[in-house]
Amino acid sequence: ASAIKRGLSSSASATPRMLNGRTLAPTVNHASNAGMKILAVLYKGGEAAKQEPRLLGTVENQLGIRSWLESQGHEYIVTDDKEGPNSVFQQHIKDAEVLITTPFHPGYLTRELIDKAKNLKVCVTAGVGSDHIDLDAAVERNIQVLEVTGSNVTSVAEHVMMNILLLVRNFVPAHEMIQRGDWQVSDIARNAFDLEGKVVGTLGAGRIGYRVLERLQPFNPKELLYYDYNPLPADAAAKVGARRVEDLKDFVSQCDIVTVNAPLHEGTKGLINADLLKHFKKGAYLVNTARGAICNTEDVAAALKSGQLNGYAGDVWNVQPAPKDHPWRYMKNPLGGGNGMTPHYSGTTLDAQARYAAGTKQILENYFQGKAQEPANIIVGVGKYESKSYGQR
Ligand code: NAD
Repeated sequence: ASAIKRGLSSSASATPRMLNGRTLAPTVNHASNAGMKILAVLYKGGEAAKQEPRLLGTVENQLGIRSWLESQGHEYIVTDDKEGPNSVFQQHIKDAEVLITTPFHPGYLTRELIDKAKNLKVCVTAGVGSDHIDLDAAVERNIQVLEVTGSNVTSVAEHVMMNILLLVRNFVPAHEMIQRGDWQVSDIARNAFDLEGKVVGTLGAGRIGYRVLERLQPFNPKELLYYDYNPLPADAAAKVGARRVEDLKDFVSQCDIVTVNAPLHEGTKGLINADLLKHFKKGAYLVNTARGAICNTEDVAAALKSGQLNGYAGDVWNVQPAPKDHPWRYMKNPLGGGNGMTPHYSGTTLDAQARYAAGTKQILENYFQGKAQEPANIIVGVGKYESKSYGQR
């Protein structure tokens, strides 16, 4: 296990490795890692990626690491083709040693695929959020799951602030009105409010949730609340003036605005459903930039339609890319507004891409060199969860 932890193939000293049909001499030093197959599932950037090289998370720009990897003799396969047994992802996963994925175009590494991935040792998430990997199966197989923790948390917190403001202030219908050539202030103002004086709560008060609380404070909310099984340190909670509520129904029933900032795991999947939505204040707003599947798709659409929710905004979907007929594309509140949905991009600003590309390279470098990984980046270490964010175990 320690050899795996250090990034060396556990069989490096005994079994010859193959590169392009050639047998490489078995060695125990770091050179034994030459010729690894590294598979990356990224999103297609099209024309934009050709024009904008800073779109590093795309298939075209390949996280900016191709020549660096190839100069060390590694094979680097990059694709956005991820669905079905004949996809490039599912074919190459069978013998890849390292898998790089991004939450923006998730290559779902299921237990079934892990069973086929006989050579897989490390999964790197270029970004934050590794729910697209079956983490329990990774634990069982001693596959490490590493993230570029913190790389885009400010990007997301800013997006949450934008989502809260655009819902509360009824921005989207106002903008659509202007583009239609109309001007009827009362149609917008009848459902526009101030953020000041509202109760705002975050479900999950980790890196993003806490940054949201920090950014909310200057708006003079009535109160800031949080719900999280990992309580904030007392001084951190006091600094933002946040009060912990331990019961989820009690928590949502006190909030005018709920923002979801917890990872997707078995304890959060479908957590916000018809049963819980009944306990929200009538006309509350819900912002979810964490993961689409934390909310039940149909139940949220119904709550918005009935006015139980006055608004829903976010950038994450239960299926990505979201199908054309996904209800969250078109759902509206009874006054025709309240939808602030976008494609998944809050954590992939150009600033964030620079950080997660650099972080991915550093993780790979550590792996090649047999150096310890940054503890905060380890979601699953060798044979066990290292992160406390993926449920109480
Ligand atoms: P983090 O690990 O710092 O914090 C997550 C917090 O959620 C932890 O404090 C954890 O205890 C809490 N939590 C877990 N399960 C919970 C539950 N059942 N109820 C209440 N709280 C719970 O993670 P982070 O950096 O803040 O990121 C959070 C999530 O945001 C990521 O896992 C990812 O899914 C999502 N994210 C989205 C984007 C985007 O582009 N939209 C980008 C980055 C991260």
